[in-house]
Amino acid sequence: MIIHNHFDVNSKGHLTIGGTDAVELAKEFGTPAYILDENVIRENCRTYLRAAREHFGADALPLYASKALCFTGIYKIAAEEGLGVDCVSGGELYVAKRAGFPADKIYFHGNNKTDRDIADALDMGVGTFVVDNCDELEALSEAATRRGITQRILLRITPGIDPHTHRAIMTGNVDSKFGSAIVTGQAMDIVKRAIAADGIELAGLHCHIGSQIFDIEPFSDAAAIMVRFIAQIKAECGYEIKELNLGGGLGVRYTEYDRDIDYAEAVKDIATVVKNLCAEGGVKLPKIILEPGRSLVAAAGATLYTVGGVKEIPGFKNYISVDGGMPDNPRYALYQSQYTALIANRANEPRDYRATLAGRCCESGDLLGENMEIQKAKRGDILAVLVTGAYNYSMASNYNKLPRPPVIMLKDGVARVAVKRESYEDLVANDVI
Ligand SMILES: *Cc1c(COP(=O)(O)O)cnc(C)c1O
Repeated sequence: MIIHNHFDVNSKGHLTIGGTDAVELAKEFGTPAYILDENVIRENCRTYLRAAREHFGADALPLYASKALCFTGIYKIAAEEGLGVDCVSGGELYVAKRAGFPADKIYFHGNNKTDRDIADALDMGVGTFVVDNCDELEALSEAATRRGITQRILLRITPGIDPHTHRAIMTGNVDSKFGSAIVTGQAMDIVKRAIAADGIELAGLHCHIGSQIFDIEPFSDAAAIMVRFIAQIKAECGYEIKELNLGGGLGVRYTEYDRDIDYAEAVKDIATVVKNLCAEGGVKLPKIILEPGRSLVAAAGATLYTVGGVKEIPGFKNYISVDGGMPDNPRYALYQSQYTALIANRANEPRDYRATLAGRCCESGDLLGENMEIQKAKRGDILAVLVTGAYNYSMASNYNKLPRPPVIMLKDGVARVAVKRESYEDLVANDVI
């Protein structure tokens, strides 16, 4: 096992992903390539669904936050596993629809839904809008009224928790482009407007406090604030909030320095706190929605590259260059995200070499990691970066006109192309002159 159970080493000393030889995969599909172990994704979906129903009640629903990894096939998996999905743009809604995802289980997020987004979502019959602000509420109310329908919504609320500095820093995330803050009174204001708005059914509230969070406390603190707010709405408006969406953000083990989270246990712990809070506050337990993104898909993924060369600069760094980089994984360039990398064709050798992994773009910041522990590499080696299932393909670009890699899905030892490798023709498909 390397970081997660589905990454291992076979008798040839090759990395295996879900039991399949990564070197063989690189030979068959070329590099760079995203590999996904479908069994891991399905298992994670089942864990969340089972735990949510067991600890929050039969109506609880985990949504897959599909911005983490978005392509047609992933919505089919979410649908088959009984999850809802969270979409944040007209594009994500389009892909969900194309996959035949049931519209009533779609939650439509985003802090700036355009008129076209709103119209498209209403046309599709999207079950729930998560309304960010008063301007959107007004636009949606008008559009729904014009169609003679009543649109179910949640309101995005900013509880004022900064999960990374933590201990309910009451001003922390109030300064956010998302949602309406409780402490400023804007949350209560939008609640009152939503209750009164034509064409709108206010079903509940939503909050999302951040990402890659390993502790339960920030979630419990946010839940406490939300439950108190629900009680306040009841007292002030005589209105019962029936649904509470607690967002996503549970962390993922990217390196051996990260803890591995038992998601079923985490859901159970959050449920215990929420149920106690509701009992204490005299609030009927609302329907609970969870919104995991990365924790459903990140660990399932690995990216395979071919090493082009090694440069050792005396007194400075060792660089290993690969045939991808920030266009397929911008996360190190964006936020210095840490990963585990290894040479897939010599995965049994110790990772006793220190290197910076460089991409192939004309950009000094085009790195996949610095000071990484890896095997000594040479041109032609297959290099794997593990745990790339989330926010890699979905954030990929064509910088330097690099075609996006394919997404290869593994299921029970069979590898299938889920998304084709882009061709050079794809790169100019929209060029008109
Ligand atoms: C990004 C996001 C999520 C998922 O976050 P993860 O850290 O990937 O679990 C859930 N809900 C909202 C509103 C988000 O923006």
